[in-house]
Amino acid sequence: MELQVKDIIQWFELTNEKIQANKDYLTSLDQPIGDGDHGINMARGFKEVVNKISTQDYENVADVLKDVAMTLMSKVGGASGPIFGTAFLKLSIAVKGSDSLNFETFTKGLEEAVNGVKQRGKATEGEKTMIDVWSPVVDYLKSEKDFQGDQIRKTAKQAMENTKEIMATKGRASYFKEKSIGHIDPGAASSFYIFEALAEVIKG
Ligand code: ADP
Ligand code: MG
Ligand code: MG
Repeated sequence: MELQVKDIIQWFELTNEKIQANKDYLTSLDQPIGDGDHGINMARGFKEVVNKISTQDYENVADVLKDVAMTLMSKVGGASGPIFGTAFLKLSIAVKGSDSLNFETFTKGLEEAVNGVKQRGKATEGEKTMIDVWSPVVDYLKSEKDFQGDQIRKTAKQAMENTKEIMATKGRASYFKEKSIGHIDPGAASSFYIFEALAEVIKG
């Protein structure tokens, strides 16, 4: 399969539904190891994303992704806006010119997205951030030949749960040092919803 413009739009509509439905949960994850606004930040951002992309006509997937990125960057206060914005901007740049995304193009683009996030936030794997979900998903995709929704979801879910055991060394959670252990990273949880939504688009 290839992801068309309509699939990318659906990806963010489904992401938005999940984020809105789990807004309080995401905020509750950000209470013990942050400032308790992650659900609010993400809910505001993805609502604006859907408002933006549902009122435009798009000819290629990169333009949708660019609008997603710019909206997150401009509408979300906090670390997560620029960071998720960077991810989708890098993905957009990597797939520029493609009408639709085949598995290989998507995988390469997502790898660029992770690299961009690492640069933007000066973070890497194992620091208890959203990178700890995105990076395992990229590694999984690189080991595959085609889209498999169930496996993407499973990989992202396990990776999100693994962030519980990590001590945060980046972002607000790093102020909590050892006390950050035992809690799922909020940005890892919202990243799980992003990949769960993608898995649903793939499964159709
Ligand atoms: P803030 O911490 O500014 O209140 P949010 O609560 O919306 O912003 O987002 C927090 C999430 O952002 C964290 O759970 C983490 O996943 C992600 N994050 C924070 N700092 C970084 C970083 N340097 N690199 C990647 N992700 C980060
Ligand atoms: Mg916060
Ligand atoms: Mg904040």
